[in-house]
Amino acid sequence: MAFDYELLTIGAGSGGVAATRRAGNYGVRAAICEEDRVGGTCVLRGCIPKKLLVYASHFAEELEDSTNFGWSVSESKFDWPTLMRNKNAELDRLNRIYKTLLSDASVDLISGRARLVDPHTVEVATASGPRQVTAETILASTGGWPVKPPVPGLDPVLTSTEALDLPELPERIVIIGGGYIAVEFAGIFNTLGVRVTEVIRADHVLRGFDEDIRRHLQSEMIRQGVRMKSSVTISKVDNVSGAHKVQLSDGDVIEADELLCAMGRAPNTSSLGLTDVGVKLADNGAIKVDEWSRTSVHNIYAVGDCTDRLNLTPVAIAEGRALADTLYNDDPKKMDYDNIPRAVFSQPPVGTVGLTEMEARKRFKEVKIYRSEFRPLKATLSGNGGRTLMKLVVDQESGRVIGCHMVGDDAAEIIQGIAIAVKCGASKAQFDATMAIHPTASEEFVTMYEPLLDA
Ligand code: NDP
Repeated sequence: MAFDYELLTIGAGSGGVAATRRAGNYGVRAAICEEDRVGGTCVLRGCIPKKLLVYASHFAEELEDSTNFGWSVSESKFDWPTLMRNKNAELDRLNRIYKTLLSDASVDLISGRARLVDPHTVEVATASGPRQVTAETILASTGGWPVKPPVPGLDPVLTSTEALDLPELPERIVIIGGGYIAVEFAGIFNTLGVRVTEVIRADHVLRGFDEDIRRHLQSEMIRQGVRMKSSVTISKVDNVSGAHKVQLSDGDVIEADELLCAMGRAPNTSSLGLTDVGVKLADNGAIKVDEWSRTSVHNIYAVGDCTDRLNLTPVAIAEGRALADTLYNDDPKKMDYDNIPRAVFSQPPVGTVGLTEMEARKRFKEVKIYRSEFRPLKATLSGNGGRTLMKLVVDQESGRVIGCHMVGDDAAEIIQGIAIAVKCGASKAQFDATMAIHPTASEEFVTMYEPLLDA
């Protein structure tokens, strides 16, 4: 049977674009369907706009820090609409680049919402009406979407999508959740002068991260002015003349102009017709795939957040590329999910790779912990009270560094470099043999000689 395309991808986000572009560059007849603009969560409503907002907010701290270095800035004023305008212009530019990358790889872009009709046919609701497209192989890369909890009154509520595009800065905001998105937005809004209250059901933010990291970040956030309500949930929200009255399980009531819900994301897999054609989904809607990203239907594959493996942009890209190499370049590639570094662009930021102390203690017989908490050099003059935390987790038997964690300025940049060493299986002795770059914060990672006595 002749198909319109060899590969048809549904969803032009990081994973879908990476797979389809690479397939196109291998000479595969490929197309990609997208109902929104090209770029997906990362480019349009995630990592990129978020990081631009993080940069914007950092200037506030930099201006404050500059005084003791001799600077006096007579008047500083922040204008949110200017930031929004310039951020949107940058997203438009990235959108154009993504489109060019696809056309340069001879990939057809089909605009409209896609739905599987049978394992080889997709119906796309295009602006000019429904269009059926057939393909030998179909790839689902539809990403995820913010979840909203069933709390009375919790509507209207912002999700990260709207928070990145607010027409004006609120005076007070309540952020629900203690994960990546919640702490990142808490940092952005707090530094820009918004009164931020973060409500978390756990005792500390960032469940799943190393306990020292969780504690340290939380105390730094509180020190910077974020009001943290921990071990509570939201019972009810009353919307009174434009303001939200948020009732908490401990009886407290907080008033806010905006409410941001950052309680996780769910795979974007409903109404795609996946189960109708035999694709199996997990209970949370994630597409079940094997180690080759193949679904329960032999010619349908899935990559990225819609599979809920490790929901990070570089992982989706790697999954997409591995798939294209496997299917179209005679180069079978499986993903390796070990030692994937992660960063949280909170303020201060977090960088981490490898095992937490708790995970390491479960897997290894004897674990040594090296930890350093210090005041960064810059703070000695600026007077900024922030402290940096660094931690190494070492398997005593092999001597290997199996976990590396940091909270402090440039943590993401530093951990990206350290991740190479951890991925290569570097030992603590090799860390110690590495000459320090002085004066830096990262030199602490190669100069922590004494393990904690209690570890
Ligand atoms: P996360 O999974 O990181 O965090 C969800 C938060 O919501 C947790 O604090 C969780 O609490 C809380 N929560 C969930 N359900 C409830 C409930 N019923 N009541 C109260 N609290 C609840 O999700 P995010 O939305 O922050 O981010 C989604 C994903 O996006 C991340 O997992 C990550 O994969 C990706 N991302 C990555 C970024 C990066 O790489 N820098 C940045 C932003 C997003 P608890 O801790 O108690 O479970």
